[in-house]
Amino acid sequence: MARILRVMGVVLLMLVTPVSAEHSPHYDVACPTGSADIVLDPGHGGADPGAVNEAYNLYERDLNLEIALSTAAILENDYGYRVALTREDNETELANSERGEIANACGAVVVILIHLNASTDTNANYSQTFWGEKEKDLLLSLVIGQSLEPLGIPVKNVDRFDNGGLLRARMPSVLVEAVFMSNPDEAKELASGTRQDEIAEVIAVGIDTWMHERD
Ligand SMILES: [Zn+2]
Repeated sequence: MARILRVMGVVLLMLVTPVSAEHSPHYDVACPTGSADIVLDPGHGGADPGAVNEAYNLYERDLNLEIALSTAAILENDYGYRVALTREDNETELANSERGEIANACGAVVVILIHLNASTDTNANYSQTFWGEKEKDLLLSLVIGQSLEPLGIPVKNVDRFDNGGLLRARMPSVLVEAVFMSNPDEAKELASGTRQDEIAEVIAVGIDTWMHERD
């Protein structure tokens, strides 16, 4: 009888627990800086290099961190925001929803997921932003998408992306695919280290614009 009750208990639990991205595993995380206005999340890390351009020895994991560090410096020094990064080295590996939880732990008002795109078509090159939850993220995605225009490549329409980081973050969040690192022109500039700062500058301007427009 006890066993039957236990089994029934498990069945009942399964019935009342909705299965969705929001209920995937929870992580015990802390905000690296205690608290922050803005959280920047350099995509990938650890054993996950993200996109790789072997010809130019480029790893998305490393480039995302360079861009995030540069964006943080601009936001802190030029605009006076308090900024935290979800990872500050290339060894740290984070699950996607863990990234959103770090932003929650920071009490941030906005979180930006920084990525670079890649394609087997090496001619492909455009900027794009993605939202996870329309009501929460769409306005931010539009503002940040518009801010990418000075990069000088087409900006593709914002799109939805079922990403754990976007869905888990309680505040507005956006995933930015700034440029294609598989494109030889971009790869040259990324290899020389100049493009990272240009990308950081437009993302920082976009965040500051949104911080003023949001209310
Ligand atoms: Zn990526």
